[in-house]
Amino acid sequence: MKHAQSIKSILNALDKKDYSCRELVQHFLTRIQAQNDHLNAYITVCSESALKHADLMDQARSAGTAPPLAGLPIAHKDIFCTNGIKTTAGSRMLNNFIAPYDATVVDKMSTAGTISLGKTNMDEFAMGSSNENSFYGNVNNPWAAGTIPGGSSGGSAAAVAAGLCAASTGTDTGGSIRQPAAMCGVTGLKPTYGRVSRWGMIAYASSLDQAGPIARSAEDVAILLNVMAGHDPKDSTSLNEAVPDYTQALNRPIKSLKIGICPAHFRDGLDQQTEQAIQIAIKQFESAGATISEINLPMTKHAIPAYYIIAPAEASANLSRYDGVRFGHRCDQPQNISDLYKRSRAEGFGKEVKQRIMVGSFALSAGYYDAYYRKAQQIRRLIKNDFIAAFNKVDLIIGPTAPSPAFKMGEKSADQISMYLQDIYTITSNLAGLPAASIPVGFSNNMPVGLQIIGNYLDESKILNLAHQFQLMTDWHIQTPAETTP
Ligand code: GLN
Repeated sequence: MKHAQSIKSILNALDKKDYSCRELVQHFLTRIQAQNDHLNAYITVCSESALKHADLMDQARSAGTAPPLAGLPIAHKDIFCTNGIKTTAGSRMLNNFIAPYDATVVDKMSTAGTISLGKTNMDEFAMGSSNENSFYGNVNNPWAAGTIPGGSSGGSAAAVAAGLCAASTGTDTGGSIRQPAAMCGVTGLKPTYGRVSRWGMIAYASSLDQAGPIARSAEDVAILLNVMAGHDPKDSTSLNEAVPDYTQALNRPIKSLKIGICPAHFRDGLDQQTEQAIQIAIKQFESAGATISEINLPMTKHAIPAYYIIAPAEASANLSRYDGVRFGHRCDQPQNISDLYKRSRAEGFGKEVKQRIMVGSFALSAGYYDAYYRKAQQIRRLIKNDFIAAFNKVDLIIGPTAPSPAFKMGEKSADQISMYLQDIYTITSNLAGLPAASIPVGFSNNMPVGLQIIGNYLDESKILNLAHQFQLMTDWHIQTPAETTP
């Protein structure tokens, strides 16, 4: 089962010539061809360029000049600009956009030798928690047809879970790497804000957006983060800090770790079986010698209202560039300039995006700025203070990633509040800029459930260490869904 192997095993097999890069890429492409009509995880499949790249990697391997991840088949969320390849951000607005350059993440990954199989489906401009807001249609969760994969990086998580790529990239503004990772039973990490370059990543809410890897295990994520992380002079918010080797810390003993649990993460609204799975994990960490203690994050209760002011406010500014003149879809036969703007934007954007542009513009308008935007920013600071206080006492904070496992498509579409509440456990780390991962921790109603691990600034190594040690004790991360097509 080439498609369910860890990155290490794939690279080993390529080294030993068990199969060639071309054979491996062809294997994944055949699977995509068989399953993508049903899963809809990819918006664009790059068969020809992937095979061409595979041949180059086979040659480099024979010549002894292969880069570290030579031949590893991956997929990029369709929010990363890819030179010469359609880049849509899940929107009709960019349905015809062929990016003229590679995002830094894409560039770093291909320099490391990974092969991009294509671009994965996502909520329009990364706005959503269920992948039901894509112009390109819903993504099916590989664990149950008709069920959401989580959003907004739903295509990236579903593609890994279904074995349609070895690993993928995602972005996380309020949970979009961790939540689909949890709901599809894979491992995802949102790094510290600024750890990974945002250059060439289509902006949603710039002060919250962060790119990161989605893969089968913490070890795979560490291998990918080694490549993705690092300072980028083209991104002014990129951190100029050395990148450690994230695989180095994986095997440290966890007995001296202090782990915090926040009681507020376990109150009403949390699915019972999810809670049970988390409680079992807590016991396992305890028996491995970690110290568990309670911490408080009292401002968490204000996180959703604050986030749903700040994110739309930034989005309304970022999306103003799509006017049919400078960027994006242009309507047919405009009568005048105002008609051109209005119709291009009306046709190009979907409902959720329009709603957020309106909320964001309202919150930023002169009469309401102080009441909404400034207040939300103040709450953001208080949320950060909560975490600073907590990390004076503990090394890591663990809890559920999402309040429930994946739900049926359409189930929450009519209830915006319950959809937004899906983000309750994840958005606080974006508001504070902290790194956080989700790892598989069990099942609820036969659907995967995720454990979230939040770390202090630049403590990705500690998060991955705990995650890896958990994955050595358990086998949740190696479980795969039944094949969707014969
Ligand atoms: N669900 C959140 C939103 O809709 C977060 C999405 C994300 O992280 N991109 O804004």
